[in-house]
Amino acid sequence: MEPSLDKCLYFCTNKGDVLNRHLAISAKKYIKFNHKEVELNWPVSFWREYDRLRGFPEETAVVVFRTRGCSWYNFSSCTMCGYFNDISRDIHEENLISQIDYVAERLGGIQVLKVFTSGSFLDQREIPLPVRDYFFERVGESVEKILIESRTEYINKSNLMASSIPLHKIRIAIGLESSDDNIIANSINKGSTFSKYVRAAQVARELGTEVRTYLLFKPLFVSEAMAIEDVKRSVRDAYPYTSDISINPVNVQKNTLLEHFWRRMLYRPPRLWSVAILLADLLEEGYRVVSFPTGANQLRGVHNENEDKKLLQLILKASLEQDPSQLREYIESSDLSRYRTWLEIENSLPMETDYSRIVESISQSSLTI
Ligand code: SF4
Repeated sequence: MEPSLDKCLYFCTNKGDVLNRHLAISAKKYIKFNHKEVELNWPVSFWREYDRLRGFPEETAVVVFRTRGCSWYNFSSCTMCGYFNDISRDIHEENLISQIDYVAERLGGIQVLKVFTSGSFLDQREIPLPVRDYFFERVGESVEKILIESRTEYINKSNLMASSIPLHKIRIAIGLESSDDNIIANSINKGSTFSKYVRAAQVARELGTEVRTYLLFKPLFVSEAMAIEDVKRSVRDAYPYTSDISINPVNVQKNTLLEHFWRRMLYRPPRLWSVAILLADLLEEGYRVVSFPTGANQLRGVHNENEDKKLLQLILKASLEQDPSQLREYIESSDLSRYRTWLEIENSLPMETDYSRIVESISQSSLTI
């Protein structure tokens, strides 16, 4: 039987977590577990992309394992997270072993692997210890760097030492999202805090692993102008504890509280200009930051008023090469007055209303007076 939300809230509150009970209940309401038949022995997806986990740009394999999902779903969910759409409660150890074999057979000499599980690789309810051991047996030798993701509560010495993890090859990605506990609790519902992140990152680094920190750009109920300031402050706060920082602009995932607001045009994903300016500023200040936005230039992802493929390409290039010069040139040569006006208007309103979409839908409606 899954623990009840009330029990969890009691438990969390007793442990001193910052949790907004109302938001936690609202976020949970939108979780829809997928009961469709899915292939349990194959990962959700497997592809190649570029990243710089060894300090230079290189082709990197990425796998999303189908697991039983993030333990946080048993209690609630982060307001933007729709990864539960990919999980299955029918997954057993033998299915995970088959998925690992699938990946091991397709690495084809690639040296870097990123592993996503729609939750935490270090959560033994998702990836049991024998499976974790098997994973490192199958791929640990052939790759030089492996990125895994984990919530903070699973990053402790006994868990990291519980199996044969090649710690020096690992970078643990932690979803801090923001260093502001108020945003973590009242916008994201992460069920964590900045101090928990600091403790987890310190333990990970003491044991010889690297840390990548995820920051969520423009969570629910935060205007774009405020979100820009939040990312800047969070980068400064998290930087002593991490190897690099990934700025992840929100993309609207299905069956989430965030989607509920977006569908009503009460939330607009951030503008690509904001990511570009943030990235250029932070790189120029000497921070190791990257941004590889998902769903960019689309309505559900980071986008400007008009599609801008060149800007996206320059954001990716600056991230991979840690050189913002071409991105800066492009920003300087562009007219950003409209963008700045939108930011000011949005910041003066109680919600992040998407006026462009409202205007578009009214102009397309057949209503005549
Ligand atoms: S911790 Fe990660 S996987 Fe779990 S609900 Fe939050 S974003 Fe989703």
